[in-house]
Amino acid sequence: MRIKDLEGKEWEYGECLSCAINSKKVQPYGGIIFESKNFTVTQDFSRPINGFVVISAKRHVVTYDGLTSEERAELAELVFKTQKALKRLGVCEYFNIYVAEYKEGHFHLQILPRYKWMEDERGTIIGNLNRGFNYAKENLNTKENLKQIKTTLQNLKKEMNKL
Ligand SMILES: [Zn+2]
Repeated sequence: MRIKDLEGKEWEYGECLSCAINSKKVQPYGGIIFESKNFTVTQDFSRPINGFVVISAKRHVVTYDGLTSEERAELAELVFKTQKALKRLGVCEYFNIYVAEYKEGHFHLQILPRYKWMEDERGTIIGNLNRGFNYAKENLNTKENLKQIKTTLQNLKKEMNKL
């Protein structure tokens, strides 16, 4: 399978993107931000949204209830640590934190900053996230935005690797 990164470079990743990232066959924009015993933290591979971070299990596991108790505890702390760092860096005030499971999937949790452009007329977040993701792909793939994402990733790396 193939996928384009934020700079438009195409990567061949085999069966599973998360496995390819974790085994370093494929490099997400900005590299791996943080690594714990059982998880990696990276920028979302293909959607140019500043601070859109993905926490992925290192082993190929599909669902949340497939995680061990050690992994679940580690994940909870990692979500906390990542959000804290993103907030300290002033990336966003609020986030949507979610897991989407599917049969061919690899367990990952997404931390999506909740930006103004994602909201609909009523001020609530757009119901269909794909609309937002498509908007990002069509409108945010600019040099300026990529530069901002890279800066965030560099700062996040520093922030999360303190101690
Ligand atoms: Zn996998």
